[in-house]
Amino acid sequence: MNPTQDLKQKLQKVPRIKLARLPTPLEEMPHLTQHLKGPRIWIKRDDLTGIAFGGNKERKTEYVMADALSKNADVVITTGSVQFSNHARTTAAAARKLGLNVVLVLHGEEPENYDGNLLLDYLYGADIRFIDERKQEISDKDPMEQIAEELTSKGHVPYIIPMGASYTIGAVAYANAMLELNTQAQEHKLKIDHIIHAAGSGGTQAGFILANKVLETGTTIHGISAEPDCQWLKTKTIQIANDTAKYLNIKTTITPTDVTLNEKYSGKEYAELTPEATEAIKLVARTEGILLDPVYTGKAMAGLIDMTRHGQFNKDQNVVFIHTGGTLAVFQYGQQLTKTKKYS
Ligand SMILES: *Cc1c(COP(=O)(O)O)cnc(C)c1O
Repeated sequence: MNPTQDLKQKLQKVPRIKLARLPTPLEEMPHLTQHLKGPRIWIKRDDLTGIAFGGNKERKTEYVMADALSKNADVVITTGSVQFSNHARTTAAAARKLGLNVVLVLHGEEPENYDGNLLLDYLYGADIRFIDERKQEISDKDPMEQIAEELTSKGHVPYIIPMGASYTIGAVAYANAMLELNTQAQEHKLKIDHIIHAAGSGGTQAGFILANKVLETGTTIHGISAEPDCQWLKTKTIQIANDTAKYLNIKTTITPTDVTLNEKYSGKEYAELTPEATEAIKLVARTEGILLDPVYTGKAMAGLIDMTRHGQFNKDQNVVFIHTGGTLAVFQYGQQLTKTKKYS
């Protein structure tokens, strides 16, 4: 059996609930390509998956929710940051669609006004628990575990989803996305030389890398970290990829050399809008009419632009940018986006 068929069969055995609109489009970015005078640039629109403004978390949700339901869960618990957790928002919407309750453990202070993801979490009726580390006494116990115990004692069946759904079940979704992209590439008679995507908690890259190695595509996958000091993320990505290989019964081992994770474009901290991301957001909006976000995809695109300008890709190569979503965050950066003059 060829590697594509084999991987397809293995992925088909994993329980899944249809939630996302798939396959997402693979489109050319002709004006951006012309502007940058580098490789041919394509975009895979995973921001158009559908539910609750879409994004990469929705792909993961299909497998995560199937796993939760197979364990008879009536409530899911997950975690993320107060303002920028696209994962929390997507999980809340998916849970509601499937008739489940949802508890969100959000790290940070409760703001006076709810906005962006948090506003949607609220509208979806999530039970939101704010954890403000500065006020909290240090506890060994994961707050999600504590809440799960509390719910179990009340007769509920909780299911904990790790941050960003970055664990085996979530990574399966991106192994499947790689298969989907590979099929589209064949339809377009396209050899993909590089894939560039934003990385946060590792599940997306883990799935991509695993399937990419199994399919022997020869594509280099560049994860662009949303935060600095991402050695932990590299370790975690390798771990998830190998756990996922085991889970899928794939005899492939992912080693550090398989993981290209770049932290050069994150700025000093998570969710800090960099001048380069601002430039990237404006450039893509103005050349292609496509919206990126300040926290993840804007930084990943800043990476693509910078690597192109530094001649890291050849003109005859194809680069696919994965649009992982998160776009509603732009409204929280209105002031900064209009004030930064680097590309005005
Ligand atoms: C979560 C997220 C990512 C990162 O995906 P991981 O699987 O957590 O690495 C990238 N882009 C957006 C918009 C996200 O919400």
